Amino acid sequence: MPAMSELLLVVQLAIELAFSALAIRTIVSWMRQPDRRHGHLGLALASLAILILLAPALGGTGPVAQSLTDLAIVLFLVSGYGLLMFRDSFVPLGTWARRLITAGIVAIGLAGIALQLPSNPESPHTPLQTLDFVAIVGVWAFCILEPIVTFWLAARGRPAVEMARLRSISIGYAGLIFVVVFGTIAGSLNGAVSLAVDVIGLLIVPVLYFAFFPPVWLRRIWRQPEEEQFRSALHDLLLYSSNRVELAEKALVWAERLVGGDAAFILDDGGSVLASRGITTAEAKQLAIKGQILGPSLDGRAPRRQGSSVIVPLDLQQGRGAMVIRSERLTPIFGDEELSRLSQYATSLAAGLDRVTLSSKIAALERAKTDFLNVASHELRGPMTVIKGYLTMLEAGALGDLAPKARSVLPLLISKSDEVNWMIEQMIEASRLEEGRLALKRHRADIVELTDSAIDGVRMLLTGHDLKVDMPVESIEADVDPDRFQIVVRNLLSNAAKYSASGTDITVDVRRDDGKALVSVHDEGIGISTEDQSSLFTRFGRIDTNQHVQGTGLGLWLSREIARMHEGDLTVESRAGLGSTFTFSVPLRH
Ligand code: ADP
Repeated sequence: MPAMSELLLVVQLAIELAFSALAIRTIVSWMRQPDRRHGHLGLALASLAILILLAPALGGTGPVAQSLTDLAIVLFLVSGYGLLMFRDSFVPLGTWARRLITAGIVAIGLAGIALQLPSNPESPHTPLQTLDFVAIVGVWAFCILEPIVTFWLAARGRPAVEMARLRSISIGYAGLIFVVVFGTIAGSLNGAVSLAVDVIGLLIVPVLYFAFFPPVWLRRIWRQPEEEQFRSALHDLLLYSSNRVELAEKALVWAERLVGGDAAFILDDGGSVLASRGITTAEAKQLAIKGQILGPSLDGRAPRRQGSSVIVPLDLQQGRGAMVIRSERLTPIFGDEELSRLSQYATSLAAGLDRVTLSSKIAALERAKTDFLNVASHELRGPMTVIKGYLTMLEAGALGDLAPKARSVLPLLISKSDEVNWMIEQMIEASRLEEGRLALKRHRADIVELTDSAIDGVRMLLTGHDLKVDMPVESIEADVDPDRFQIVVRNLLSNAAKYSASGTDITVDVRRDDGKALVSVHDEGIGISTEDQSSLFTRFGRIDTNQHVQGTGLGLWLSREIARMHEGDLTVESRAGLGSTFTFSVPLRH
């Protein structure tokens, strides 16, 4: 059947071409990354490819045929050696085991050449030749079978990418056995079976390709199981880490899993080790100094390989940092895809680290503000008490008579000192609230009476306005802290006076409604636009246009907090230019 033999030839040619392409790919990748691991793989696949090309020329007799056979023996053993050493670069053999096997391979090879092994296994052999032949096949089989098992077992419990990578290499080794075994037996079978065997051989070559050089899409599939987990971890990492060390430590776990790696560390700007994993801080520090990781070569944003490490620059706000992942034995060979993911990851990480720096700075500032509020208010209170005391005494005539001119300014002085005292009181209460020390002393009280005495407390401030009070004769009872309740009402009243023109009405309305006691303070002042209303109740929140009026911006914030601590509320209804109504509510006593 000529058609069959032609087909056979075509398939064999295809195998030769495909295998040669694989060998060339291996050598190219070795040239790109000239390390031991790539070198051994290149050695193994190139010698197998030459062997496959050589195969049709084997089997003759004479000196040329004999030297071809010798070459074939050498190539065969070299391929086995290369594959075993490739395995050794992932999972190291002991030094002695390595030496022993190497010596064994050399000895068996030399013996094969010395014994002039015939290239056709079916031709008659001397017993020694048979022994060496078996040894050659045996040692080669060992070089392949042992790694298949080792890779498979080493993959257990590893992160997804590493596991898939190791298993795929294991499958690749098995594929090589098939190609060689089928290739050898195919020639001795009849046409149709031989063709089928060759086709299987041809189909295995792409499997080898994927196994040794997994394409990006395949690596993506490998990563898939962890992808979701990764995303949520990244989210948690960036949002919920309260300090930089914690964030850096968590980040390392994922950086390692992302590309595989047995040790990793993060260098802060300035070179201190922020976190390390798999090695001690001291070792990391040493590596950083020895490798000059933060040196001038760390420019740009792209990750870079340095020996067995990958260095990823971190663009931090204060300067350059770096994440270093050391890849050892079991680590899959890094691909560009992994590196670009790593650099994306580094960008998020740098943003996260900066966020933590920033928020701890803000927290420190807030603390400083509270401390200042606390200190300032307490320091001011003493002198103000003295001033107010003497002013009152002067007014009462306890310190002798005053000239009429001097006496005429006293009410103003007293009212100003009341204002200052009122501000100090607000500041003290605000700092108590911030520090969680504002504890209510609630007991049964009459809201009507409390509102009345709150009005009395600020009457001086209201003198320019026309105050209208609408309250019931009967009492409205609620469980409140009387002092704090009055602080709120006084605050609303003093705001009403501050933010409305003198001569206009201020109306206070006390009533009960739907289980609540309500106190409303209405003014006909400047009002508050809807967009400004949201910032009213924030700490230090003041409306820009009102900056000329004295105030701390603490009053409404404090008042609303006090109202809510009473399970009540403080709300506003207002329109710019049309006055405001603030309503303070607390639950009625049952
Ligand atoms: P401040 O000490 O500045 O008065 P508050 O917390 O009491 O602080 O009030 C916050 C801001 O709300 C004020 O600065 C002012 O702009 C605005 N505001 C408060 N009450 C009124 C009101 N009755 N009319 C108009 N604006 C007001």
